Amino acid sequence: MINDYKPKKAIEYASQDINEDDIKAVIKILKSDFLTQGPTIGKFENAIKNYVKVKYSYATSSASSGLHIACIALDLGPGDILWTSPNSFVASANCAIHCGAKVDFVDIDPKTYNMCVNQLEEKLIEARKKNKLPKIVMPVHFAGQSCEMRKIRELSHDFGFSVIEDASHAVGGEYIDQKIGNCKFSDISVFSFHPVKILATGEGGMVLTNKKSLADKMRVLRSHGITSDKSEMYERPKNEKWNYQQIILGFNYRMTDMQAALGISQLSRIDQFLSKRRKIAAIYDEELKNLELLTPFQNKNTQSSYHLYPILITPENTKTNQIQFYKKMWERNIFVNIHYIPIYLQPFFKDLGFEPGYCPNSENYFKSVITLPLHYSLSNVDHEYIINSIKEILL
Ligand SMILES: *Cc1c(COP(=O)(O)O)cnc(C)c1O
Repeated sequence: MINDYKPKKAIEYASQDINEDDIKAVIKILKSDFLTQGPTIGKFENAIKNYVKVKYSYATSSASSGLHIACIALDLGPGDILWTSPNSFVASANCAIHCGAKVDFVDIDPKTYNMCVNQLEEKLIEARKKNKLPKIVMPVHFAGQSCEMRKIRELSHDFGFSVIEDASHAVGGEYIDQKIGNCKFSDISVFSFHPVKILATGEGGMVLTNKKSLADKMRVLRSHGITSDKSEMYERPKNEKWNYQQIILGFNYRMTDMQAALGISQLSRIDQFLSKRRKIAAIYDEELKNLELLTPFQNKNTQSSYHLYPILITPENTKTNQIQFYKKMWERNIFVNIHYIPIYLQPFFKDLGFEPGYCPNSENYFKSVITLPLHYSLSNVDHEYIINSIKEILL
């Protein structure tokens, strides 16, 4: 125990780890012929594909753009509804709005903070009666822990919806001994490589699927709706090598080669990243278990990537409350955070008609949660300082 230890700079809740190899990989691209649309993108896509064991993978400019083209590939449009978790980043819902569809929310399980599959089932039964079934259900693997995908897949067969996994938090996470992102129980999965997540490419994301038709559509959507694959063109050109065709309306949602190179380099260290994250989480679990707070519950058949480590400070059993705790941690230069404000409480979604009280579990959770710092470059002394600070505040 280091009594007078003070961190040199603020301890962020999340941060990327960039080493010399990462830097060299990006510089190599800067000195090469292609900054974008070059060969490195495909290499990164293959590396991720082999890592999670999925058939098709396409890099995107972000997870948000990936979620958007995933929805379009599944034909989400006006008159359709997408259901997701309120305990997520706004992008999980915005993708549906961008398609002209409606969005609705299924409350969370108070244990895992993921979409509750029992409530999902009940809501589906009600929706069927009213002829308002969702076209897509988007579970979000909150903090890196998988949702109950087997059950969600079963429901998708019974009620006829498609499944997009928002796996932004969950690169490297596992469900029933297989890597999240392999789409065993879904149509499409989407990863984020924002620097706060498991792997960093600056901005960046990836869409993954085992279905060729969805893969082809997302590949084209990512790049303006343009194809240069002759088999996809409307009128086959003879031997016009220069020919390309815009066959649908798409976007520039591409990743650059600089980002892909960084991604490949980062992916080569993913086992290190994950084991450090899991070690930090295990130390938190152990050190905090006798305090008046709740550490994150882990389902037996999951192995979290630990993007986040949320604790609950519940007013009934703690001498402090969430907001006081938050302030006291910030005073100590520990920049804890809150994940998430239920999406439908955002002013934009309130304007769409959502009201407070809609998903009580998510709201209770939101009023108690604090995200503790957890990232690869968190030093042992900083980690100890965080734990000691929590004890000082709570004991
Ligand atoms: C970060 C995040 C996104 C968006 O990722 P970007 O790559 O920043 O677009 C989407 N969903 C969830 C759950 C996220 O945490």
